[in-house]
Amino acid sequence: MQYDVIVIGSGPGGYVAAIRCAQLGLKTAIIEKYNTLGGTCLNVGCIPSKALLDSSEHYHNAAHAFATHGIKLDNLAVDFGQMIKRKQEVVDANTSGIAFLMKKNKIDVHTGVGSFKDKNTIIVKQTDGEKEITAKSVIIATGSKPSSLPFLKIDKKRIITSTEALTLKEIPKHLILIGGGVIGLELGSVYARLGAKVSVIEYMDSIIPTMDKGLGRELLKVLKKLGMEFYLGHKVTGASVKGKEVTVTFDTPKGEKQELKGDYCLVAVGRVAYTDELGLDKIGITVEERGKKITVDEHLETSVKGVYAIGDVIRGAMLAHKAEDEGTFVAEILAGQKPHINYNLIPGVVYTWPEVASVGYTEEQLKEKGVKYKTGSFPFKASGRARASGDLDGFVKVLADATTDEILGVHMIGPRAADMIAEAVIAMEFRASAEDVTRASHAHPTYTEAMREACLAATENRAIHI
Ligand code: FAD
Ligand code: NAD
Repeated sequence: MQYDVIVIGSGPGGYVAAIRCAQLGLKTAIIEKYNTLGGTCLNVGCIPSKALLDSSEHYHNAAHAFATHGIKLDNLAVDFGQMIKRKQEVVDANTSGIAFLMKKNKIDVHTGVGSFKDKNTIIVKQTDGEKEITAKSVIIATGSKPSSLPFLKIDKKRIITSTEALTLKEIPKHLILIGGGVIGLELGSVYARLGAKVSVIEYMDSIIPTMDKGLGRELLKVLKKLGMEFYLGHKVTGASVKGKEVTVTFDTPKGEKQELKGDYCLVAVGRVAYTDELGLDKIGITVEERGKKITVDEHLETSVKGVYAIGDVIRGAMLAHKAEDEGTFVAEILAGQKPHINYNLIPGVVYTWPEVASVGYTEEQLKEKGVKYKTGSFPFKASGRARASGDLDGFVKVLADATTDEILGVHMIGPRAADMIAEAVIAMEFRASAEDVTRASHAHPTYTEAMREACLAATENRAIHI
């Protein structure tokens, strides 16, 4: 079968690339090794984790917040089996939605493992044999898989990755988390809300260490209130399983040996590019030494002409929306257009409660670059909307150029921050000043007023409600 484009991998990078290629009139095929489409994000990532975050948030509110709203409940209990079942229904609805979109856009789906025979020919290995398909261009979108530590054996039963943590049969009694990054804190929140003891061992001296430091400090306070315990600046040295018990050993910052015992240990120390089955060496595609990421140029073309790569398998943030943007980008390049991605404006979100969201430069980065900036902050406890809902933790912080007032970074932790960050992205995409945002009407009472107030605070300290 001859195509204009073959996409290998059906995650948010791959399926968006395929749809955009089809929209632009290119005859397109997509290859996926699993029976369901949607990749990590839909099957074992973004969607199932958010389903469990929402369910556990409902339970936590029912147990701890309803009474203050004057709602009384007797015999509140968790039906964990139902929670996991619902999560799977959410996943199934989403993945079958992608299958529908492939049909709608007349994209051929080939189920099987794709590997290069040559730069235009892909072998699709299926359970009952193999076939070959060819195309003028190939887009690699094979994503990533969980990474581990060299001395840790992940048995997928007691020492687990995020994939297993999304399908547990029981609520852990004591979940030990290695890594205080996004996965650790999101899934840690789920189980802490459901009553598990959750201990986080993090190598760095802060959680979500790559985000603006102020966010990590505030989130740490909130998660401690939730009952999670943190061992920051601690280095894990080993983990072993005996029956149903896991023992994790680690060194304190002073080098003293310590250990924790629990029933599950979730290893969340990052993810690595997944290229194992592609046969990249057959056609000479180069990968970066660290992390095995496929090397690409500014057009996301690999070292082999006509072969492109997008998403988690290349450099940059491992985020679904970054993969999607790159999918659209390559499709438009193939159609002869001149697309652009502003990598500095890809937002990062952590779906804890309160949510954490960030775009642009952090204070630490601006200091390092020697940029003169001013800051405007607004705490949610001064927001009428947040008072009404009872979500008083957190703040919005705006960083603007000291001379031009252009917004350079927005960092927020608070209710619905994940949705609110879109305003900051749009403002920055149009190179708005902090004052520009203050002049736009914001509905009252909404959480978004906190963004306007933070911009007012950055503009000659003019915040109204603080
Ligand atoms: P993937 O989604 O990994 O898809 C790659 C696909 O390629 C897979 O289906 C794989 O089976 C297939 N494949 C691989 N090799 C082959 C081959 N040789 N032949 C055929 N098929 C192949 N990001 C966010 O932005 N927001 C979130 O809330 C979020 N939550 C997450 C929660 C968890 C628990 C995890 C693990 C990740 C989360 N992420 C989130 C990250 C997000 O899932 C990834 O950034 C995103 O899925 C990357 O998309 P991709 O298309 O590059 O690859
Ligand atoms: P991460 O990079 O976010 O966090 C890993 C953490 O583990 C870091 O804080 C790191 O310092 C720590 N760590 C590394 N080695 C350690 C060790 N030996 N001992 C203790 N701590 C150690 O990675 P993750 O949480 O595994 O997530 C993987 C990827 O998935 C991320 O790149 C993220 O972008 C993506 N993801 C995104 C979302 C979201 O957008 N909401 C949610 C989940 C996952």
